[in-house]
Amino acid sequence: MKIYIDGKYYSQDDAKISVYDHGLLYGDGVFEGIRIYHGRIFMLNEHVERLYMSAKAILIHIPLTMDDMEKALLETVARNNKKDGYIRLIVTRGVGSLGVSPMTCKKPSVIIIVDDIQLYPVEYYERGISIITASTRRISPDSLDPRIKSLNYLNNVLAKIEAIQSGCLEAVMLNQNGYVAECTGDNIAIIKEGALMTPATHHGALSGITRGVIIALAEKIGLPVIEANLTQYDLYTADECFLTGTGAEIIPVVTIDGRPVGNEKPGETTRMLIDAFRKEIATVE
Ligand code: PMP
Repeated sequence: MKIYIDGKYYSQDDAKISVYDHGLLYGDGVFEGIRIYHGRIFMLNEHVERLYMSAKAILIHIPLTMDDMEKALLETVARNNKKDGYIRLIVTRGVGSLGVSPMTCKKPSVIIIVDDIQLYPVEYYERGISIITASTRRISPDSLDPRIKSLNYLNNVLAKIEAIQSGCLEAVMLNQNGYVAECTGDNIAIIKEGALMTPATHHGALSGITRGVIIALAEKIGLPVIEANLTQYDLYTADECFLTGTGAEIIPVVTIDGRPVGNEKPGETTRMLIDAFRKEIATVE
């Protein structure tokens, strides 16, 4: 495996960063998870754009142009000769002193890891998954804008622990007002009365790239899309529910907090969107 760190390539054993990096000390940094399908990077511009927006919002100046970042990503994928896989792109605040001030960090570090993707087992896509509502609330957008894909995932980690302790793969997180925000590593959407409804970023959701792809596909097939303030009741009474994310793609949800969604099988519209998404990735250029 060839891992990119600040312009140089290292083997997995030699790919190391300083213990004084504020990415490690404070979760001070941003990242992206990106898919490679048949040797092509899916939604490359969108991921790079989101990374730079996240960095800008927290005053990290990435020491590469967006163009050079895309080149570095393509080069790292080529060096790893990976046809289908996953890229973890990380920008840390860089090395500083032990204090919290980012002003001691002189240069952000850029790390690119290309590896295999840990997919959910195939049967989950056919049967659907069960999720719970976590008691851990999503950090308020007043405190940290959910559009910033930061290295600090403790909020999500705590909700993920709740999911695992309940025997589930994912948990839905509510925002500080009790409305649905998103899951720990995926966006959530429902189908209700012939429309696709999903929380907006101001409800506490990341502006998911997969969410964006699905919204575009839904609009293409004439399915109305509504960014909605959703409650647990809306989830419980939805006709269909699914999650979207770079790793998960689209995964049907068939029970929420023990309530069956629809007839407890992946819904027709969800299946249609899965098919449309698979066609989309088959033609990635
Ligand atoms: N929400 C959170 C909290 C995430 O970490 C992710 C990505 N893993 C998503 C949503 C889905 O976003 P994307 O489709 O861009 O992967």
